[in-house]
Amino acid sequence: MSHVAYVNGRYLPQKQAQVHIEDRGYQFADGVYEVICVWNGVPADYAGHLKRLNRSLNELRIASPMSDGALTFIVKEIVRRNHVSQGTVYMQVNRGVAPRAHPFPTGNVKPSVVVTAKHGAGPAESVAEKGVKVIAVVDQRWGRCDIKTVGLLPNALAKQAAAEGKAFEALLHRDGIVTEASASNAWLVTKDQILVTHPVTNAILAGVTRGTVLKMARAAGYKVEERPFTLDETKTAKEVFLTGTTTFVMPVVTIDDRPVANGAPGTVALDLRQRYRAYLDGLTETAWNV
Ligand code: PLP
Repeated sequence: MSHVAYVNGRYLPQKQAQVHIEDRGYQFADGVYEVICVWNGVPADYAGHLKRLNRSLNELRIASPMSDGALTFIVKEIVRRNHVSQGTVYMQVNRGVAPRAHPFPTGNVKPSVVVTAKHGAGPAESVAEKGVKVIAVVDQRWGRCDIKTVGLLPNALAKQAAAEGKAFEALLHRDGIVTEASASNAWLVTKDQILVTHPVTNAILAGVTRGTVLKMARAAGYKVEERPFTLDETKTAKEVFLTGTTTFVMPVVTIDDRPVANGAPGTVALDLRQRYRAYLDGLTETAWNV
């Protein structure tokens, strides 16, 4: 089945979908994006993703290409036309097309918009049951990791290092502090059963899944601290886990080939994973409301 993409006002077979060579997203990574999980045909945390998209656009002073309602119409169409039940929607907004020059283009340059969808959501359950390996990689990103830009080269290099080490993810650290992972947020559980994750600052992406899991954890009675934590603390933690749109809640069982605690997935991570899955299973058409 051929995929259908939305590109600047048109729905096209993905193979025919093209962007301009002078699009600033292509030349300067001057664009932002979102990845949204689709579960039983409806989106997870949709309002949170749209809010973050609008924030990213604002931070970079890229004009909003359309209203939330118009964008939602397109996202629904892309989900429908691609027959996505379990999958992901990808949306990207770039500053637009202009002759190559570093400053923002002047005049009436329209932002470019691409929306696509893919089948397959989250890692297989068997992966989470066993837990995953991660490696520690120095965080080489810029100072505004809070903006979800398409400038992902340091993330891609870190993920490649993980892939070469047969690991699921790269845990990013800077000056001894674990910020997050290459495409997910990082958490640990202390010996006192306190959940810890990096606070929302410019050093991390405020993961939408992080926010949902944080609320879920507090509602379930877990104590959660948003504070910086070191790589050493992570390596000696009772549990380590990751959260993200394409990760859900994922227990980490080794860091740099050394086991976390006894090397088995932690009970808190597995409990939160189940709660997150129950949240996904409970989504209805109201999930589209923004
Ligand atoms: N951190 C980084 C660097 C990411 O790229 C992502 C997702 O792509 C996340 C965290 C998790 O964010 P979310 O839960 O919104 O998918």
